[in-house]
Amino acid sequence: MSLFVRRNTHQVTIEHINIGSDAPIVVQSMTNTDTADAIATANQVKLLSDAGSELVRITVNTPEAASKVAEIRSRLNDMGCNTPLIGDFHFNGERLLAAYPDCAKALAKYRINPGNVGKGAKGDEKFAYMIRTAAELNKAVRIGVNWGSLDQNLAKKMMDENRSLPTPKPPEAVMKEALIVSALQSAQKAVDLGLPENKIILSCKVSAVQDLIEVYRELGSRCAYPLHLGLTEAGMGSKGIVASTAALAILLQQGIGDTIRVSLTPEPNSLRTQEVIVAQEILQTMGLRSFTPLVTACPGCGRTTSTVFQELARDVQNFLREKMKVWRHQYSGVENLNVAVMGCVVNGPGESKLADIGISLPGTGETPVAPVYIDGERKITLKGDNIAQEFIAIVEQYVIENYGENGKKRRVVFPIMSP
Ligand code: SF4
Repeated sequence: MSLFVRRNTHQVTIEHINIGSDAPIVVQSMTNTDTADAIATANQVKLLSDAGSELVRITVNTPEAASKVAEIRSRLNDMGCNTPLIGDFHFNGERLLAAYPDCAKALAKYRINPGNVGKGAKGDEKFAYMIRTAAELNKAVRIGVNWGSLDQNLAKKMMDENRSLPTPKPPEAVMKEALIVSALQSAQKAVDLGLPENKIILSCKVSAVQDLIEVYRELGSRCAYPLHLGLTEAGMGSKGIVASTAALAILLQQGIGDTIRVSLTPEPNSLRTQEVIVAQEILQTMGLRSFTPLVTACPGCGRTTSTVFQELARDVQNFLREKMKVWRHQYSGVENLNVAVMGCVVNGPGESKLADIGISLPGTGETPVAPVYIDGERKITLKGDNIAQEFIAIVEQYVIENYGENGKKRRVVFPIMSP
């Protein structure tokens, strides 16, 4: 019996993407180009989209950036990329939306941070302008509260109230509660201003794993808005990946989270698409969605004294990921393909038989042959210097035969019937 039960929420539709309720959990990402550079930004959105990002957020921080958003949308359309764009607004969103109506129209969703819209009546006016613009243009809004930019007036008021209690709560507990209250109060204000509930997504991002889990569990129990999940400022490399995975996996397993982003700090000169791959792999390894055939590979040990096995596992995974840009449109269901690349005879044949297609490489001292298992049966034995290329060719042929027209593993997509 699966332990996974999804939280009940409204469903928000952003162009062709549904978020919340029973819709698949959506992967999103964010560019790090200067939005004022329309070519670089459009190209990076395309890269992120090709990697599997279903929504892409771009910062809209200056008049120069806002003036280029419509051009970015148009360039993407010309490249055949229909991934919805989210505008990330801070401090001056109302001015930019007012001054650049094409930007307001080209974006599919606005991210508004209630902590830095502004204080008092002026802040309320700015917030109201952004919400009314979204409502008029039928746009969705993410009310995105962040630990680093929490509404200071609200935090101070709640801290003062807490101090006057007979038994005050610890300050950290009050701050976490302030995050949640900021999101919920802002959502209610947006509804009162005329934005439908099914246009609102909430987030309350913090940078520590246990805090994130606590805040989202509480937030999820108090509203029916879809939640955008992410550990903010997760960090670089394995730390960022591990921290994000730890936090997101626990919440997702509890049915909390309708769209996710992994906020990795990229290594210098590394690809921005890594955050998309990590987000997909979190969902796929948890069995919540499938995106790309994954390679099962053993860690290797003293029985694998050459790098052949590691190189093959890497090359096959890279090949599959690269091919998916085209395969996902041609071979329905191929994302569920399981491939095994194993280092020796100890677990190699067993794991290879369990995969759709697997190879058991010869370990140190074994006969230099590599049996290939297809659908559980040993079918071919590879040897010589071209094992990698030959195995990759066998995988490709398997995909064509099994996921192409009339392939027995092809996922059947039923057309939507008119009533
Ligand atoms: S399958 Fe073989 S090479 Fe791989 S970890 Fe196990 S014993 Fe080592």
